[in-house]
Amino acid sequence: MKAVVKSRPEPGVEVKDVPVPRVAEDEVLIKVKAAAICGSDLGIYKYTPAYSGMRLPVVMGHEFAGEIVETGKLVERYAAGDRVLSESVKACGGCGFCRMGMSNLCDGSTLFGIHADGGFAEYVAVPHKLLHRIPPGMSYEEAALVEPLSNAVHFVNDITPFRSRDLVVVQGCGPIGLFSAQLFRLGGAKVVISGLGVDGVRLGIAEKLGFEAVNIDGVDLVKHVMDLTGGKGADVAFVAVGAPPAVKQAMSLVKKRGAITVVGIFGSDVPVDMTRLVRRELTVMGAYDAKPVNFPTSISLISEGKVNVRDVLTHRFSLDDAEEAFRVALDRTGGKVEFTP
Ligand SMILES: [Zn+2]
Ligand SMILES: [Zn+2]
Repeated sequence: MKAVVKSRPEPGVEVKDVPVPRVAEDEVLIKVKAAAICGSDLGIYKYTPAYSGMRLPVVMGHEFAGEIVETGKLVERYAAGDRVLSESVKACGGCGFCRMGMSNLCDGSTLFGIHADGGFAEYVAVPHKLLHRIPPGMSYEEAALVEPLSNAVHFVNDITPFRSRDLVVVQGCGPIGLFSAQLFRLGGAKVVISGLGVDGVRLGIAEKLGFEAVNIDGVDLVKHVMDLTGGKGADVAFVAVGAPPAVKQAMSLVKKRGAITVVGIFGSDVPVDMTRLVRRELTVMGAYDAKPVNFPTSISLISEGKVNVRDVLTHRFSLDDAEEAFRVALDRTGGKVEFTP
């Protein structure tokens, strides 16, 4: 079968012919219908230090949906023909975090597309306990975005302390920024979303979704926020980009006792003004991946039309055109980019 493979410890990916995976007793074989490129896939493409521990070679992709074509003999709840999507973390199930429902922090987890063969392929083998059914009326293209939306649900609803009528500044207008902004708005917050000039298309999507979108190449974001708040600062900054200047900006634009949630993956250490954090009693939180419980929530949010993932998806490619697909994602000239094998 055809697959997008990371095989060498250097920038780039390859489209290769690899064997169709064999299913274990507790797995199903999925014919992939849609698989989305994630920000982490861009780090893998570039082979940044954050991914130096990954398995090579590996079939990439952890955001995917498709149709079951085969089931292992211990699988009873699913059958060939079922439409499903998968969680991205293969957790151990036994560690303290797994037992508390936080498999995103599992001590012994493997991730599709990093340690285990993933969904940028014609077929992928998945343990049945990671599956969720795709409701009638939801397309495979939308279903492949349940995983990243689940991340956003965890970041916003589980981790970030915010209240109705708070001003939340979402820094970064990639798919996670665009999903998270919608979740903050659902929670009653007023949202400003920011990006750079190169993010023109994405800022346009933010506007289409009804947000105030600020191009910080032309506007001083901190000054803008101070103007909006009478000099007090925003209640929350949400850093959805792995750029060190965004963290500095977040520290400058939140109010005293403000909260900063950081979800970007950074290529290097980030210096922060700790004295400012101390004197203003700021709280900084990291948020990573999604918990299993976030998946049914995301499925409902899409089904009920409360979160619009469709307008965030802008590009579709065949596996053969992987290089072009990654180019669009790396250049940020689109929203979400999917393979439709
Ligand atoms: Zn992802
Ligand atoms: Zn575990």
